[in-house]
Amino acid sequence: MKLVGDFRIIVACALVWALLAAVCLALATVLDAQVPIWLPAGLSVAQFGLLPKRRWLLSAAVLGPVSFAVLFASGASVPYATVFALATLAEGMICAALGLWAMQGNVQLPDGPRQVLGLYGAAFAGSFGYALVMLPVTFSGGGGAITTGLFAHLLGMLTMTSLVLHGRKRLLQPDASDGPKLTNELAWTMAFVATLSIVLLQAESYLLVPILLTGLILATIRLPAPAPALNVLLVAAIATLFSIGGRSPLPNLASDPAEAMLLIQTWLALSLATAVPIASIIARRDDMANQLAMQNAQLEENVTVFGLAEELAEIGRWQLDLTSGKQIYSPVMYELLGMDADLAGEGDDIRDLLQGGGETVFDELERNCRENAAYSFDCRIKPVDGPERILRFSAQNIFDPAGMRKSVFAVAMDVTGQVRREEALDLARGRAVRLAAEAQKLANTDVLTELPNRRCSLGLLERLVDQGHRDNTNLSVLLFDIDHFKKVNDTYGHKAGDDVLLRVASLARREMRGSDLVGRIGGEEFVCLMPGLGPNDARALAERLRAAIAADSGVQGLPPVTVSVGIACLGPNDDAGSLLARADEALYGAKAGGRNQVRRAA
Ligand code: GH3
Ligand code: MG
Ligand code: MG
Repeated sequence: MKLVGDFRIIVACALVWALLAAVCLALATVLDAQVPIWLPAGLSVAQFGLLPKRRWLLSAAVLGPVSFAVLFASGASVPYATVFALATLAEGMICAALGLWAMQGNVQLPDGPRQVLGLYGAAFAGSFGYALVMLPVTFSGGGGAITTGLFAHLLGMLTMTSLVLHGRKRLLQPDASDGPKLTNELAWTMAFVATLSIVLLQAESYLLVPILLTGLILATIRLPAPAPALNVLLVAAIATLFSIGGRSPLPNLASDPAEAMLLIQTWLALSLATAVPIASIIARRDDMANQLAMQNAQLEENVTVFGLAEELAEIGRWQLDLTSGKQIYSPVMYELLGMDADLAGEGDDIRDLLQGGGETVFDELERNCRENAAYSFDCRIKPVDGPERILRFSAQNIFDPAGMRKSVFAVAMDVTGQVRREEALDLARGRAVRLAAEAQKLANTDVLTELPNRRCSLGLLERLVDQGHRDNTNLSVLLFDIDHFKKVNDTYGHKAGDDVLLRVASLARREMRGSDLVGRIGGEEFVCLMPGLGPNDARALAERLRAAIAADSGVQGLPPVTVSVGIACLGPNDDAGSLLARADEALYGAKAGGRNQVRRAA
């Protein structure tokens, strides 16, 4: 498909090339007229420019024979037609290659003076290439003929390439019409240029020539492409008409038709060379002005929206220009800071009008004076006639390129409600955490002795058993029960019994190491968990405990109580339940064996 499309471009360009060439040649040979612009030049450039480089050979294969055939048909000799065909190809390729390079591969009308100059350079190089290839066959015609040919090709490329590109753009984007206003203006301008040409080409003094040039330049600057090309073609066409029949198009200024034509070519090239870069600068400037206007409109919309948001959210705005010392407060900012907006003049330093605590705002801004990123702080303001309020500021320092702070922007909003809610929430959260901790402690603690209770002790036993198995370390469990405790209660009362329990608990804590756990797991039954302790050490510790209780557990003149102790050491097959059961069995043995003694489980 792509090849078919490319081939279509090649054939269309070649056909139009042949047609325009035939017209130019017919004008020159049949009507004996001067043709200042070699119209086909633009077509060959466009044909190469519109196609990728890999199609250039195909292009040349079509355009070369076509140009040879047209020239030969018009009466040129075979060598002349051959050299001409080669020159046409050279010109098209040089101009297209350089033009594409100048336009950075973008086949469009030029954008900006640099691209325009690039295209001029390309056209000049193309026509120079043409003239060079043609030199062997044109040399005999002299310098004038060579220069005329060079100009005709230069003008052909400058005007026709612009027309072809514009026509292609219109074909590809049928909607991109220039509008009736522009079409009207173009028609008027062309009528003006035509009238000017008719009058001035027949004038008797060179002094009027600048008027034609100025007219052309002004028309070019006023209107976008392809108007400049059309105007130049129009002047050329009028000059050609005047020259029909071997006459000079400038009868009163140059009687030799060829010399007159060279003059006209020079003027046309000059007007294009002057006006097109200016026009492109103006177009660029207009584009920028349009863009700026659009950005301004957008900015205005944003400012309006921001103003609405500011009002709705009650956000205050403040700005300090450190160069002039000017401060700008928005109305909401006055209100937030507790100031009366009427008291302050525009841009004044109104620090002394700030209400209680307002000066801390400036302390914070000063403290952050080297901060590059946006920063935020809270301030408490106490207006004379209202409750304290908390303002949250968000500020940004602006530095100049030398790193000096030149201004500060800040926005603020009243966050009193939010902060109060956060404070209340923090308070409630703290209380809840405390209560939960207390509840947890209560759930794990025996109320009387404040030792870990049964639940807590057994939970820890399970963890120690796991750890012992995992690390392959010793763990001894010691269960002890007060002997004949019922008798203590019965004889001295329940309160005395409690005191004895407290005393026993404290003795157990005293005799155990810091790393051991002592817990109360029943009425007068206690457990000691002793990680790292083997059977012998456990027995020694148990004996020490038993002896200490038997010696020191007397309270308020009561005789001391004794305890029976059962020991079990963690075996490879033990879990917490079996370990405890074995300790319990040993305790039962101690009771059965006469009490006040230590037994170790098997
Ligand atoms: P044994 O040598 O076989 O252990 O005899 P004992 O009397 O100690 O055992 P028994 O289980 O018959 O009695 C335990 C007593 O402990 C019964 C109960 O009144 C008393 N007791 C349990 N908890 C408390 C307590 O918190 N305070 C007081 N004062 N006494 C308690
Ligand atoms: Mg007992
Ligand atoms: Mg008991």
